[in-house]
Amino acid sequence: MSDVREAGQDSPANTPTVAKAASGVEGSSGLTIGVDVGGTKIAAGLVDGTGKIVAEGRRETPATSPPEIVAAIVEVVKELRSRAEGREVEAIGVGAAGFVDASRSEVLFAPNLAWRKEPLKEAVQARTSLPTVVENDANAAAWAEFQFGGGHDVDDMILLTVGTGLGGGLVLSGELYRGAFGVGGEVGHFRVVPNGHLCGCGNRGCWEQYASGRALVREARDFARSSPSQADALLELAGGKADRIEGPMVTKAAAAGDTAATELVQDLGRWLGEGIATLAAVLDPAVVVIGGGVSEAADLLLEPARNGFWRQLTARGHRPTLEIRPAVLGNEAGIIGAADLARRR
Ligand SMILES: [Zn+2]
Repeated sequence: MSDVREAGQDSPANTPTVAKAASGVEGSSGLTIGVDVGGTKIAAGLVDGTGKIVAEGRRETPATSPPEIVAAIVEVVKELRSRAEGREVEAIGVGAAGFVDASRSEVLFAPNLAWRKEPLKEAVQARTSLPTVVENDANAAAWAEFQFGGGHDVDDMILLTVGTGLGGGLVLSGELYRGAFGVGGEVGHFRVVPNGHLCGCGNRGCWEQYASGRALVREARDFARSSPSQADALLELAGGKADRIEGPMVTKAAAAGDTAATELVQDLGRWLGEGIATLAAVLDPAVVVIGGGVSEAADLLLEPARNGFWRQLTARGHRPTLEIRPAVLGNEAGIIGAADLARRR
């Protein structure tokens, strides 16, 4: 068996064979509720021990009022309990778009919600009389992909969510990695370009500014403004206005074979792959799972990511190579992961 692998070739001999020590479910097999609290909506589900959502509920997020957010969570939990058909609901997991403290009780800060040091666990627990855990939403999604999705067969996995921004979560040696203060795993904010594009976090040159939907839109609009004659397919989708180009238009034009759009998605994939090489040098995961809206471009994105990864990987050819795989659970990963973490509380 050769230890050299060409980029983009998946031979079975090089497929990671690390088996998860305990596949299947460790906690109970009863029902738990997962709640995914985002900036605009609260999505919740009643989830069984195999990660299957048996009932779902939704509310708008009253983002500016912490007590109203709690009230909306309590309300959707109540609704789902009434739909459990007599089965016991054991616990609640809340995935929140923000920094969650190491004891998984408090939301320290949420960029798109009015939460500042919000004692969310206590508030939900007191009003539902159900044990509650709070987790960062990207961590919850990573846990779901690890248990039931793209990382189900390995012990070390990183989820990268390529949406408007670039988020993610780390599962290392079978455990969700939170860091000393609970706020680790912010993969989108290591610097890849000195003095690069300004990031929402206040720094410049973060990976998110090159490998995200926002980056794709910025590059596509720039390209359409500077080379309109080569961007005719993109401009047509955007009603002739470069400023109206959005991410899904680029992936759509790329899927239809447009050269400019394909190159834009390929550039994004290359940035993604090069950053994965950096993560691999530090953390050595067996699998990197790619989710989020932009990942709907599938191999148009993943193939350049694999190539970019391979070109940048340290000591390539002299080490086993991780796999880059698409996510399996889509938008429901946050609900499923939060519910499963509640089961294992
Ligand atoms: Zn940043």
